[in-house]
Amino acid sequence: MKVDLEMNTATDIESNELWNKAKSIYLSTLASPDEKSQVERYLSMIVSVEREGDRFIVCTSSAFSAEFLKNNYSERLKKCLELVVPEGKVDLEFKFREAPIPSIIKQISSPAKQQKISTFVSTMPLNEEYTFDEFVRGPSNSFALAAAQAVVANPGRGGFNPLFIHGGTGLGKTHLMQAIGNELKKRDPSLAICYLTAEEYLNEYVNYMKDTNIPGFRAKYRSVDVLLLDDVQFFQKGKQIQEEFFNTFNALKDNRKQIVMTSDLAPKNLPSIEQRLVSRFEGGMLQEIETPSYETRLAILRKKAEGLDVTVPDYVLEFIADKIKSHVRAMEGALGKVSVYLSAYPASVLSTEALDHLLGDFIQKEQTMKMLDIEEIQSAVAKRYSVSMEQLLSPERTQSVVTPRQLAMYIARKFTTKSLPEIAKKFEKTHATVIHGVRNIEKRLDVESDLKSSLSEILAEFGYKLSDKMD
Ligand code: ADP
Ligand code: MG
Repeated sequence: MKVDLEMNTATDIESNELWNKAKSIYLSTLASPDEKSQVERYLSMIVSVEREGDRFIVCTSSAFSAEFLKNNYSERLKKCLELVVPEGKVDLEFKFREAPIPSIIKQISSPAKQQKISTFVSTMPLNEEYTFDEFVRGPSNSFALAAAQAVVANPGRGGFNPLFIHGGTGLGKTHLMQAIGNELKKRDPSLAICYLTAEEYLNEYVNYMKDTNIPGFRAKYRSVDVLLLDDVQFFQKGKQIQEEFFNTFNALKDNRKQIVMTSDLAPKNLPSIEQRLVSRFEGGMLQEIETPSYETRLAILRKKAEGLDVTVPDYVLEFIADKIKSHVRAMEGALGKVSVYLSAYPASVLSTEALDHLLGDFIQKEQTMKMLDIEEIQSAVAKRYSVSMEQLLSPERTQSVVTPRQLAMYIARKFTTKSLPEIAKKFEKTHATVIHGVRNIEKRLDVESDLKSSLSEILAEFGYKLSDKMD
């Protein structure tokens, strides 16, 4: 969280601390890495926290995020806050507050070297903890890291524009992207550095459109020096936003402004993204972050543990690194949970059984996600709907075959960590077909209770519940 110390009173600093504690308790209760990532994303739109007696006023960078946080997280955050406030009772309010525009020129350390500070106000602030120093290098990410460092050395130039980083959820894409932003900002505070998710870019576009001020939107995003656009797979949702971004991309690139993007898939595997955009995305440097090895996982955990108030013994870190393999974020969740426990019972020695029990949620999720394979899902669904495997994999479009096919796609996508390309391959279909199938089932599940009960029965065969779904 960004706190401008000059502008805050002592009580604001204290309330920020309480807020940070409450936030980490809340995050440590989330076992699903995707949910955690989503919550973190929304929480990152908070610019300050103030306190008036029992009332905490959380200020956000947009009216949209204030509303969203209020509707979705208010209750749970309030409970967590009540855990850390001595009085045990609070009111929580979310408010949109225009960020104060910094005075145009500020003096930096040496007055001889006066530097301008950028007045560009970003929709989403950079997380200052996401730095290169905090990023652990390993074989799974060393190329992406090197590329990120090359961007910092020479922004906007060379063969690294755009830099496109892709890979699974929770593997460090956002961290690395923001490290670029933080490092560039440190080197040159006059740079207008803009970080936001493609989802937020689209939201803003829609808002400017409502105000019939598309030129304002364009002017804003074409005036940046560095554009860090996270999770561009989100652009699949709309043709118009792709057109808009295509033009902004070209304008920035022509002016040698640096563009960095991330996505869960490589550009060529992104369904429903226009070809001309795909070739722009591929026109610079493409790097993948892969799943980290045991050694890298342990190194990351050690690094994260350094930042905690409690000492987490090495055997606990090894236990986590050994049991949780697929997501760095899930490892962090497990670490958070252990650390909450250890701060309550500092001297405790945790047996393997105790750890298994404490981290049950995380470990079970991990096993669940790993164990199911696509063929198993396909045959269970085919059996239940009395269709053959051949039919399930065929191009046949009759409803009696389409439903089980799409349902199997849905289960593969939402209840395993298999990637979209893997799923598409196993169904002998294109990515677009899988995505379409998954969406179709999603819509139908909202209204068709029969389909929902078939789904839970199939899931039950594997020992799953509907709530094990990943977002
Ligand atoms: P993604 O954007 O790929 O979903 P994030 O960048 O949000 O993933 O990373 C998830 C969490 O894991 C973050 O808290 C991040 O700091 C941490 N993380 C991932 N990779 C590393 C790494 N190599 N070193 C340190 N922390 C990491
Ligand atoms: Mg991310």
